[in-house]
Amino acid sequence: MAVDLPLPGAMESLDYAVPERLRPQVRLGTRVQVPVRARAVQGWVVAVHQGPPTRPLREVAVVLDSEPLLGPEELDLARWVAARYLAPLGQVLPLFLPPGQRPDRRRTVRERHLRAYRLAVSEEAARAALAELVRAPRQRQALEFLLEQESGPVPARELAARAGDGAARGLLERGLVEAVPLSLERNPYAGWRDPTPPPRLSPEQAQVLQEASRRLEGGGTILLHGVTGSGKTEVYLRLIETVLARGKQAILLVPEISLTPQAMRRFQGRFPGRVAMLHSGMSDGERYDQWWKVRRGEASVVVGARSAVFAPVRDLGLVVVDEEHASSYKQEETPRYHAREVAVERARRQGALCVLGSATPSLESFLAAEEGRLVRLQLRHRVDGRSLPRVRLVDLRQELKEGHQGLFSRALEQALASRLERDEQAILLLNRRGYQSFLLCRECGAVVECPHCQVTLTYHKVGHALRCHYCGTEQPVPERCPACGTGELSGLGLGTQQVEEELRRLFPAARVLRMDADTTTRKGAHDQILRRFEAGEGDVLVGTQMVAKGLDYPGVTLVGVIDADTSLRLPDFRGAELAFQLVTQVAGRSGRGVLPGEVVVQTYLPEHYSLQAAREHDYPSFFRRELVYRKRLGYPPLSHLLRLLVQAPAADAAEDEAGALARELKERRRGGAPYRVLGPAPAPLGRLKDLYRWHVLLVGPLEALLEAGRAVRERRPGRSCQVVEDMDPVSL
Ligand code: ADP
Ligand code: ZN
Repeated sequence: MAVDLPLPGAMESLDYAVPERLRPQVRLGTRVQVPVRARAVQGWVVAVHQGPPTRPLREVAVVLDSEPLLGPEELDLARWVAARYLAPLGQVLPLFLPPGQRPDRRRTVRERHLRAYRLAVSEEAARAALAELVRAPRQRQALEFLLEQESGPVPARELAARAGDGAARGLLERGLVEAVPLSLERNPYAGWRDPTPPPRLSPEQAQVLQEASRRLEGGGTILLHGVTGSGKTEVYLRLIETVLARGKQAILLVPEISLTPQAMRRFQGRFPGRVAMLHSGMSDGERYDQWWKVRRGEASVVVGARSAVFAPVRDLGLVVVDEEHASSYKQEETPRYHAREVAVERARRQGALCVLGSATPSLESFLAAEEGRLVRLQLRHRVDGRSLPRVRLVDLRQELKEGHQGLFSRALEQALASRLERDEQAILLLNRRGYQSFLLCRECGAVVECPHCQVTLTYHKVGHALRCHYCGTEQPVPERCPACGTGELSGLGLGTQQVEEELRRLFPAARVLRMDADTTTRKGAHDQILRRFEAGEGDVLVGTQMVAKGLDYPGVTLVGVIDADTSLRLPDFRGAELAFQLVTQVAGRSGRGVLPGEVVVQTYLPEHYSLQAAREHDYPSFFRRELVYRKRLGYPPLSHLLRLLVQAPAADAAEDEAGALARELKERRRGGAPYRVLGPAPAPLGRLKDLYRWHVLLVGPLEALLEAGRAVRERRPGRSCQVVEDMDPVSL
């Protein structure tokens, strides 16, 4: 039995006796309830042994499913995920189920039914009965309506609206109709369709499609490296069409952020009635219904975010991972899987084709292509011969030297002015939120930090309050600096609100829309802002990285990056990769229509190779430079990285435990294990949710790291300490 608990490795699978009465129901893949210490927990039957137990065992209490929800293929893939990401199998298995299926939680999601009516007698008998209903015109009306229906039962509410509340009751008493439950599909996207017919493929698209289709039979992995606006999505859609025509199914993964209303309408329009959507913006009930639609085989295309890679597709022909470089494919809580890697593995096991698409491939995928481990196909041009936008790097040091201190460099200000004059649209990107990000003491230089998380508190002008973006703590702005007690606090840094205000000051007539975490807390607000921008109700869209991906608006001819250096300042070895991706992707939002686009990037480091390469739209040159640096430090993608995060309520406990862990791992290495041990060091977020955090990093080949990771799981951490293992984290 794999139980849904974070148990140490050796205990992950527990044995239970099966009482006689439950024996027929206990099958591989069914869920059961079993006792663990004094608790009843959910477990999964992952192996069944015949014969009497060799030692005394506790008994399975309840069998939760009448049919196993998981087949042997799913169990095998789950085992792979558990091993690859050092997670307990019992915590991986729920990924394969619809949401809200944990009997130990109070709310379990079920199907929703409507009361409905249908004829209880033959059509002739019903017609004959009509004549008898002359004195009951409402009933007659209701019966006539039911006779007209070819598509089955009519919801009670609908019948009542036509013939009044009592009609159905009368017909029921006469035995002419019967009540049946009608299962209700909770689908927020029902009827969302973009009926635009598919465009004619460009010669480049056609060639890529042909190459990819050829591989649909044999499976394998393709990296589709296509510049922004090269029509990768159209290639995916055509491939899916072919897969469906062969009676198979497809999964299309997209980063959460790019599931825009526009994209949803496009997918549903192409395969009406056959698409299931799965993402976190939907309610549990909605996801539950979509899940079953896939499981019953009614939907043959799954479009969704990260977890849709586990969708219950039977005969998988294709998995597409769009924007395969996106860090949101990595789950940041146990099980810490990477959906791109799972997609490749799942496709391999089911003999399906896996397509990884991006304009800025992850170094992992590009290296795999260079080494011939996967096939690379390229789209070098934008569709319709549109050109890639011109990218200008503006040196903010120079601006300062020349006495220009505004938020917008002169170049950006001029570019904005000319767009507004010509009635074209612009997007401004700032990689942060809040008004002035943090408060600094002008006397002692201290910055106001969160008392729990050791991260700078963000100042929010709305409500004049300080808020922690990690744990959510909110507090009023102190009058004096809490550190020295005398200094006055003032703001530094900037946020989207400040950009918006500056815009209004410079261009009072401009219509400005702002999209960031503050303006999109309300459900649907995100969609609404985008729709307004799409409809031309705004001249300038100001936003955080939310605006960097997935948008496709032909009216946009200018994109401005207010501060390109944010990710270069992060304590993360992927900083340069993030900066390159950000500038390239955001540049991809410009000039998607007939008008040529321009990108203005403000930076203090214009000579940095990631920005230089992004300006030239030159991925290979970025890749080569970056790889040299990764090689020198032995970082991924040339190796793997295992992060062991130690958390404890006391600072010295965390530090001591991390120290002990590092020593043990170094000791093991002397025994011949080929990895390097970095640390112990305080984690970049040294304190989070009242826990002190230290970490130890291991760099080396996958197998050696997995072995070390398994050993760590068997180890008993010090009192009140917890060790979290994260294989190949995307951020520290
Ligand atoms: P990418 O994902 O590569 O950035 P998209 O697939 O979003 O690009 O395509 C960019 C735009 O070009 C979309 O509006 C799409 O509808 C359009 N498009 C794609 N293929 C063609 C084509 N062959 N002819 C005309 N327009 C196309
Ligand atoms: Zn906090």
